[in-house]
Amino acid sequence: MLAVTFQAPGEVRVEERPEPEPREATDAVVRIHATGVCGSDLHIYHGRHPVEQGFTLGHEFVGEVVAAGDDVTGVTTGDRVIGCFLAACGRCWFCERRLFHLCDDLRIFGHGEISGGLQGSQAEQVLVPNADLVLRRAPEALPDDAALFAGDVMNTGFHAIRSGGLEEGQTAAVLGLGPVGLCAVQAARHAGAAQVIAVDTVAERLEMAERFGAHPVHLTEQDPRAEVKAATEGRGVDLCVEAVGHEQALDLAVRLTRKAGTVSTVGVHGERCQVHMGLLWNKGLVLKAGVANVIANVDEVLSLLSSGALDPVPLVTHHMRLEEAPEAYAAYDRREALKIVLSPPG
Ligand SMILES: [Zn+2]
Ligand SMILES: [Zn+2]
Repeated sequence: MLAVTFQAPGEVRVEERPEPEPREATDAVVRIHATGVCGSDLHIYHGRHPVEQGFTLGHEFVGEVVAAGDDVTGVTTGDRVIGCFLAACGRCWFCERRLFHLCDDLRIFGHGEISGGLQGSQAEQVLVPNADLVLRRAPEALPDDAALFAGDVMNTGFHAIRSGGLEEGQTAAVLGLGPVGLCAVQAARHAGAAQVIAVDTVAERLEMAERFGAHPVHLTEQDPRAEVKAATEGRGVDLCVEAVGHEQALDLAVRLTRKAGTVSTVGVHGERCQVHMGLLWNKGLVLKAGVANVIANVDEVLSLLSSGALDPVPLVTHHMRLEEAPEAYAAYDRREALKIVLSPPG
């Protein structure tokens, strides 16, 4: 089968790989219909997240179950399914408390040995461990382009707002309008935010945020702090989502948030980063961080996608063939796309 593999920073390749087979009774194999290219794939592409040469990338997928182990009961051969971007053991202290994203045996698809060694979904087929936790049947009427967001991007945007405790009538800011930030804008509106202030530097992304009901603010051509003050009687926002994964964005989030407010960081941080702790302390802020608990959220997110309450389809700017992955990565790296969906042949 064909698979998109990491070669070196700035280089991915489409290569032949053996088809996966279930090894454990809880495994399933999914034939991929559609798989996304994600911001975290770019971290790998840039060499910031170490992945072995030849490792298959990708962690967002919709497809059909073609094999399932004897202990898999939630899905069966022939089902159209969506996958969560991570696999959890279901048995450890954290999984018992439904903190699947913090599982002691957490494995992330397509992120190399350091993240559990699960080969990725940018391939014709993917092996899925613990399929009952990781896979869900896709609602029939839900198109692939929407379903693809259930296990990662929309789920992460939803998590940013849910874990940030946003209440109806409150004001949120979202820093960074990549697909996750834009999904957080939708999730905030759906949660009843009176106002969502969306900050970025890319005109198309600001336009998309406005289309989703946010007040767009250009990071450098406008003054985000002044805009937030004007919108909140000078207090600051109740919740600020940091969807960039950069020190400066986190610092701005701390400044834009009102006293006793919450900063929710879903941008990927892998390194030491300075936060103005004095400011955080004096303002009595809550700082939430980490990957989304996608397994715990996935049923709710799927039903919100099915009802149309959340609709990420406008974020899909490109459909490309799996074989075009090198071009897809390069285009995404140039910020020419929001969500690129790759489809294997056949
Ligand atoms: Zn992703
Ligand atoms: Zn676990």
